[in-house]
Amino acid sequence: MSLSVKEKSHIRLMFLGAAGVGKTSLIRRFLLDTFETKYRRTVDELHIKEYNISGMKMQMDILDTSGSYDFPAMRKLSIKNSDAFALVYAVDDAVSFETVKSLRDEILEIKEDNKLIPVVVVGNKCDNKGELQVSSKDIVSTVEVEWNNKHIETSAKTNENVAEIFSELLQQANLPSRLSPALRRRETFPKDNRAKPPMNKTNSCTIS
Ligand code: GDP
Ligand code: MG
Repeated sequence: MSLSVKEKSHIRLMFLGAAGVGKTSLIRRFLLDTFETKYRRTVDELHIKEYNISGMKMQMDILDTSGSYDFPAMRKLSIKNSDAFALVYAVDDAVSFETVKSLRDEILEIKEDNKLIPVVVVGNKCDNKGELQVSSKDIVSTVEVEWNNKHIETSAKTNENVAEIFSELLQQANLPSRLSPALRRRETFPKDNRAKPPMNKTNSCTIS
């Protein structure tokens, strides 16, 4: 399913990946700019954000999934109804990249015009690279050369490259790129005036 001109003011992003890789934390960081170390199991959750950009109404739905494989039929339906996908693994968990592989296969199977689907592969927990289990070189070449998808390393903990997931998916969906900075305004939450670290221009992680 591709976006027609008329539908361009509405996009649904779906976050997929094994349980525990940080999907909920990335979404929470993006929407609320907070991070929790406590783990809570997610049931599928839909966040709906509405924005007004120079008089144009935009709606972004963000579907957070549980990572459990109990409901394959439901997941298939959600994939069918989503426009763009963040496939998340954790850089300290090699098995979680195997999950990304099978999720990608599933998306390609469900979507017909699969070359046009906005997809970004997210290596989260890059603040934790001391625990590295996954060879990032191999993964980057699989994702970028073999699959021809974008690969971004992120940390929900340090807020590294988190907004890039969203702006990359919007760009791939041909939504106006000027939407991206507007999305960082947190309209429904108390204003956070803390200075933000400068945006990292690369897609890989800086280790401090
Ligand atoms: P989900 O199951 O994919 O939604 O994963 P969660 O967002 O619930 O995160 C699982 C656990 O990983 C939680 O304890 C988080 O605090 C932790 N976590 C998530 N993102 C990061 C990250 O970027 N760095 C580190 N060090 N821990 C993270
Ligand atoms: Mg979750």
